[in-house]
Amino acid sequence: MGGRISKKVVRPAVKAKPAKAAPSKVVYAFGGGKADGNAGMKELLGGKGANLAEMAGLGLPVPPGFTISTAVCTYYYAHGRKYPPALRADVERHLQQVEYSVGKRFGDPANPLLVSVRSGARASMPGMMDTILNLGLNDETVRGLIALTGNPRFAYDSYRRFVSMYGDVVLGLKPQSKDESDPFEEILERKKHARGVSLDTELTADDLRELVAEFKTAIKQRLGIDFPDDPQEQLWGAVGAVFGSWHNDRAILYRKLNGIPDAWGTAVNVQAMVFGNMGEDCGTGVAFTRDPSSGENVFYGEFLMNAQGEDVVAGTRTPLPMRQLEATNPVVYEQLMTIRRTLERHYRDMMDIEFTIQQGVLYMLQCRVGKRTGVAAVRNAVEMVDERLITWKDAILRVDPEQLNQVLRPTFIPADKERAIEERRLLAKGLNAGPGAATGRIYFNAEDAEAAAARGEAVILVRIETSPDDIRGMVAAQGILTARGGMTSHAALVARQMGKVCVAGCEPLRIDYRARTLRIDGRDDALREGDDLSIDGTTGEVFRGRIDTQPSEVVRVLIDRTLDAQSAPGYQRYARLMAWADKVRTLRVRANADQPDQSSAAVAFGAEGIGLCRTEHMFFGEDKIGPMREMILAESLEARRAALAKLLPLQRADFAGIFRAMAGKPVTIRTLDPPLHEFLPHETVDQQALADILGMSLSRVQERVAALHEFNPMLGFRGCRLGIIFPEITEMQVRAIFEAAATVQKEGIAVRPEVMIPLVGHVKELDLQTVIVRRVAAEVAKESGVKLAYGVGTMIEVPRGCLTADQIAHTAEFFSFGTNDLTQTALGVSRDDAGRFLVPYVGEFEIYARDPFQSIDEDGVGALIRIAVERGRTTRPGLKIGICGEHGGDPSSVVFCHRVGLDYVSCSPYRVPIARLAAAHAALTS
Ligand code: ADP
Ligand code: MG
Ligand code: MG
Repeated sequence: MGGRISKKVVRPAVKAKPAKAAPSKVVYAFGGGKADGNAGMKELLGGKGANLAEMAGLGLPVPPGFTISTAVCTYYYAHGRKYPPALRADVERHLQQVEYSVGKRFGDPANPLLVSVRSGARASMPGMMDTILNLGLNDETVRGLIALTGNPRFAYDSYRRFVSMYGDVVLGLKPQSKDESDPFEEILERKKHARGVSLDTELTADDLRELVAEFKTAIKQRLGIDFPDDPQEQLWGAVGAVFGSWHNDRAILYRKLNGIPDAWGTAVNVQAMVFGNMGEDCGTGVAFTRDPSSGENVFYGEFLMNAQGEDVVAGTRTPLPMRQLEATNPVVYEQLMTIRRTLERHYRDMMDIEFTIQQGVLYMLQCRVGKRTGVAAVRNAVEMVDERLITWKDAILRVDPEQLNQVLRPTFIPADKERAIEERRLLAKGLNAGPGAATGRIYFNAEDAEAAAARGEAVILVRIETSPDDIRGMVAAQGILTARGGMTSHAALVARQMGKVCVAGCEPLRIDYRARTLRIDGRDDALREGDDLSIDGTTGEVFRGRIDTQPSEVVRVLIDRTLDAQSAPGYQRYARLMAWADKVRTLRVRANADQPDQSSAAVAFGAEGIGLCRTEHMFFGEDKIGPMREMILAESLEARRAALAKLLPLQRADFAGIFRAMAGKPVTIRTLDPPLHEFLPHETVDQQALADILGMSLSRVQERVAALHEFNPMLGFRGCRLGIIFPEITEMQVRAIFEAAATVQKEGIAVRPEVMIPLVGHVKELDLQTVIVRRVAAEVAKESGVKLAYGVGTMIEVPRGCLTADQIAHTAEFFSFGTNDLTQTALGVSRDDAGRFLVPYVGEFEIYARDPFQSIDEDGVGALIRIAVERGRTTRPGLKIGICGEHGGDPSSVVFCHRVGLDYVSCSPYRVPIARLAAAHAALTS
């Protein structure tokens, strides 16, 4: 058992106070048409326990059992892994109730009750915690089971499953390295080989009985432990293992990835067994009430006859589609269809169910709200509104803003894919488990996949089947390909949740982990680690080599305009959802864009303006970098003005293009921000070339480059400091802005420029720059005869700017938080140099709950923002305030912006839909 407990993670000293007193009621019964709990009690009963109770309460056929609440888990960890004193008696009493209702006794050699011990946390953690089936078997009770059923094969099948599950989960006999296979699996494979069979179901009762003994011997030899015969000892061992597994590595990692607090704890469910492995009129299955991949309203699932529990999910045998159940067992199928309707009506959502058929009788073993792709989430939400299951406001909340990424995700270019098929590069076809297209290099295990991704490679993780140990590799990969397992296998489930492309159950694949090769039945291709592979998670196709991808339906309709909205149902659903979102949100959404084409894309995605146009990006263009360098190296004011004069028309043309694209929507343009040395060449050859062009000596150029060198350019000569020392630069830029505005306005297009001065910490900095802006604006208005409406404001990105916002607001007509730099300056962390410590800061030490450069650090940076908003609006009520850092596209930061009363967020064009939906969530939930 010891080996399974993860090493203690170092944690800050401040911890949640442990629950000192033992909780009063800790065990909750369910079954027989009633239950102590219900679906609303997930905190206490975990998701699985709460939903088992809910189903039992609905009168669905749930085998009876009880749930040991999460309060026990919390108590257990707060008290050095001890249980509350009353627990044993409580469990005893509830076990008796179960015995009574099924008419069997736990440990009774003549008529044994067998149970499953199942973990279940508040949030579903697929496959993270381990379930043990058929608990209560030993050499005596197995004989009782045989006598009772007259089916020794079934009895020993149950027994060998129990011993291997218990041996793995509780006793800890597991593979030791990444290339090793499961020890029980190895013994099983050897047995099948010896008997000349390929399926578990072909083994005889004697084979299975031998397996039980061989498993126990392996446990004794490798661990030095006798397998426990006493059912009570088995039960408490299993309960302890479930609680223990809350702190195993993969559970901790999963919680970290999904932001689940350690303090929640897991519940334990103990439930009377029903058997899907008693013969051909028995089986087990997993289903979704709608297609979790496309969202289509069809019953979608898989089952296996003569199988138990994990067989469907584990991918040891490839399961059959639900349709087949309709053919072979129409009565059970009809019953399931009725339950499907009942559950959808009751939960008003798409549900994921687990069931078992014992001798033609259906039992429900689990239900929960189904995980689905972004595409399916949008489709379910919109269609359920049409079906009057939910309101349009519910629909908005049904789609996680990040999930929209998948709706915008690329697919393979059809012509390229066709060519790949012609070139006979289509290797095989598996199940279309996670939509989208991915192309990358093959890696065969999580560790290597992670390492390759860290080197910047696109990775396709190729596994026979995946387990929770592969999660790190799945995170790192673009796509996941497995040889075994169905649509509900671990790989498929986790991939969909992560939004990864996935092809599962691709049976012709022959994967050799040790040799690191991938072969395909009936073909002579041999692919090795590092070779290119492309997978289509929408069709299930697997290709050798690379295939180019193309934009999604939404992008083709909105941006490329290569597809007609009328013939794009996926686009139409997206558009309806977004229209609902726009109806409720109060936060405006703008985009960060520096060029006309980006601006048009932003508008197509619903941007209501440009929140940040970075002028310096323009200077890196072919035609502009020359005069820019000339300007920087100029030795006199005249020379600098001459160079600026060359830049003026170029900038003006850029601005005009953007103004036309934005057609009257506000455009915030930031004056020059980065340190000047960024524009200069640092290699001698390039410096020589520049010297030649400018007619200077190489040494003079090098002198100037050296003079501009800074020890800490992030805090150096940049931002408004440039425009204050070289006012002619600001002058040229604002002239370009206003001349472009005048030109476009004369064309009959409205223009709303907003000039934004960066890095202001003192109101006088802004004053000095504002004088220039207003003077030039007046000059241009006079010269052009056009009346210009414009604003002048500042980017708030240093703490002093936040703290003196009341003073700054006397001059500034708007604020925009540059949260990238504000995070750097507030935390005293240089983002570019944070690599060494920021990852462990977040992951290992939990100093920040999330990367502060991705998600606003609400306590620190957020406090500065609150102060600035409050002080700024004290001086200037109604001051328009936005944010233009990377955070503007992060859903949780968007919610924060809504709460502190900002007017808009600005983010990259492709994140505009995500920000719109997040803003709608914020409006509906706060
Ligand atoms: P997970 O959390 O990984 O889904 P479960 O606790 O749901 O684990 O158990 C996995 C599978 O084991 C279930 O889907 C079900 O098929 C089977 N199982 C669990 N409890 C029972 C039971 N009492 N009788 C029959 N099968 C069971
Ligand atoms: Mg389950
Ligand atoms: Mg900045």
